[in-house]
Amino acid sequence: MSSVNSMTMSKTERDPYHKEDTRGNGVNVMDGGDFYKFPPVIELNVGGVHHTTTLTTLTKGGSHMLSAMFSGRHHVAKDAQGRFFIDADGMLFKYILRYLRTGELPCSSCAPQVYREAKYFGLEELQRHIEWMPVMMGRSARVQFQEKLDGFDSNTERILQIASKKQCIVSEEIVSYCIIAILHEHQEYLDSNFDNHHRCFADLPPHQIHYCDLTIGPWDKSLKHVTDRVYLRAIVRELMHRGFSITFSRLGDCAYATPHPNKITCQRRLFKFIFHWNDSNS
Ligand SMILES: [Zn+2]
Repeated sequence: MSSVNSMTMSKTERDPYHKEDTRGNGVNVMDGGDFYKFPPVIELNVGGVHHTTTLTTLTKGGSHMLSAMFSGRHHVAKDAQGRFFIDADGMLFKYILRYLRTGELPCSSCAPQVYREAKYFGLEELQRHIEWMPVMMGRSARVQFQEKLDGFDSNTERILQIASKKQCIVSEEIVSYCIIAILHEHQEYLDSNFDNHHRCFADLPPHQIHYCDLTIGPWDKSLKHVTDRVYLRAIVRELMHRGFSITFSRLGDCAYATPHPNKITCQRRLFKFIFHWNDSNS
């Protein structure tokens, strides 16, 4: 028998689980002939968390990393107490075991994390089941939409950078904020008196000037259904998904105008993003 020090297999082995292993474990594979014997009840140490299950449960569900590990063709490393060691998230492993035992799927809130574990263990059927859960379909739809929006990721990160440095008081609450101007291509003026590089601002009564921190746009003209608010709501949804509490409101149009007698105004729309730091997210 070959010696082993963890659960990963040789790259040359045909077992399905080696291709999923990206965590740097190392397992040697038997040269052939003898098989390792496992007891019917298996004591596991998964990332420091102890689980007890049966050999039947671990080898259920066709070809995957766990069925390969406990197929008898590989030596599996043990911890100091003699439990078989698996280098994975021990807390999430209970969902993997539950699925193997009964076919029960994880709750919506932990589905994304369990999905990553299912991928790691090569549990393709569980992956497919989770992909069809509402939480995962919604996430997939959101990501697909974001990918169509020009500059979505960089604009989102820029809003966070700006908001981290700007605070104000709204309704007696200290908040962070960022003022955004939306630029559509048709709003660019060719008049020589018009400064296309001005800093947009809203002039709100009584004489409150709000300067723009970031300009977003223009985006792909073919996305006719993507209005200013649709784009900004996509950013809000993404940030709320990350745990931020955000509201946004329209401040009005930019007040910049040429000094020309027939004044040309900018008309870029200004919005204010407000980050609320209440007890639930601070
Ligand atoms: Zn402007």
